[in-house]
Amino acid sequence: MTRVESAHSISMFKQCRRKYFYKYKLELPEKKGIAAINGQVVHAALEEFFNMNLEQVNELNFEEKCKIHLFGCFSKAWVAAIPELKEVQEEKITIRKYYEDSLAMLQNFSELFIQRVKKELMSSSFQQAFNKWKPESEVYILSEKHQIQGYIDAIHKRNGEVLILDYKTSRKADMTEEYKRQLAIYGLLYKEKFGVAPQKVGLYFLRHNEEKFMDVNEALLEDVKKECASVHKGTASEDIGAYPKNLGVWCRYCDFQTVCFGQKSLQGFMKKEEAPLRV
Ligand code: SF4
Repeated sequence: MTRVESAHSISMFKQCRRKYFYKYKLELPEKKGIAAINGQVVHAALEEFFNMNLEQVNELNFEEKCKIHLFGCFSKAWVAAIPELKEVQEEKITIRKYYEDSLAMLQNFSELFIQRVKKELMSSSFQQAFNKWKPESEVYILSEKHQIQGYIDAIHKRNGEVLILDYKTSRKADMTEEYKRQLAIYGLLYKEKFGVAPQKVGLYFLRHNEEKFMDVNEALLEDVKKECASVHKGTASEDIGAYPKNLGVWCRYCDFQTVCFGQKSLQGFMKKEEAPLRV
């Protein structure tokens, strides 16, 4: 049966097929790093921010209220993540660094948001301005036809245009090939679900307070459809031999290093009782 892929699993397959095999065919456990947990906390805070109760908020107090609410959402998500953070990182100073980084990123977000709302206030009430910049958050879309799925961080509808945005906490604000593919997949998912393609798909680099967009056109969607089909074809086999190793700098961060380089038997990683396999 064809596995439902995501932008993440497709990127893993393209980077190293063997890693894909360990993770998705053998279902070996992978550790979540501190950067990933931190990213989840920031995403959770942004999602919750837009559920703000606007009743007591007006044109005079919205700056303060928005900031208090956003940092309250962040604190709640951070506290909930502390046990997980401590599990992956013992050094308090490192955890502290991530905390401060996240605060700085959310500070960027709040300044940009407030600036945008202020411009709208020339012709709208605060509630109208807030709702204009409020996206649909964390939208899950599954395409049965292409067997791909994804969670879209934000879908904005502005001035008759649909814009899809993914929040990034990465250190560099580069629109890499991997990010472009992820965005093209989101464009395709949106079109499959709603019948029309979004006009633009883009990234908001929170650390740099910078948005970068690309246009969505038929050629982009056709290319990504072909890429998904080729990954489905390449992942049809259950034989480890069909998934060659691709050695590179990324091996340093790979959780499957020990099994991959033969320092640990594959069986030691297996969750279930399965027939022994040779790597
Ligand atoms: S250690 Fe390197 S070659 Fe081996 S699975 Fe991981 S990424 Fe691939």
